[in-house]
Amino acid sequence: MHELSIALSIVEMAEGKAQELGGVQIEAVHLKLGALSGVVKDALLFSYELACDGTPLAGSRLIIEDVPLVAYCSTCQAERTLDSIQRFCCPVCESSRLEITQGKELEVVALEINHESTTATG
Ligand SMILES: [Zn+2]
Repeated sequence: MHELSIALSIVEMAEGKAQELGGVQIEAVHLKLGALSGVVKDALLFSYELACDGTPLAGSRLIIEDVPLVAYCSTCQAERTLDSIQRFCCPVCESSRLEITQGKELEVVALEINHESTTATG
């Protein structure tokens, strides 16, 4: 399953980062997911839970920010947001001379750290 391997690499990356920061507890991982990334959001969320199981990230959340498909139309000479990846043409002039500028993202943009666990005095 494609999404599971992606989830595993996200968890691995976050785990490494948590260790780097002195063994902090990761509360949430923020991910940018482009419309063209080819990743099914629900499948990724499900896979993330599986991937976290048995790791220091167990119980953390994956927060996905959808990135719309944006392309530069050389006819309009402007950037256009495309509603659908099925209909690959400019919504204004219907030209198909488009260059994708955004929508392929698949990247971790932020990690939320649980500060309570680091300040707890027990
Ligand atoms: Zn256009």
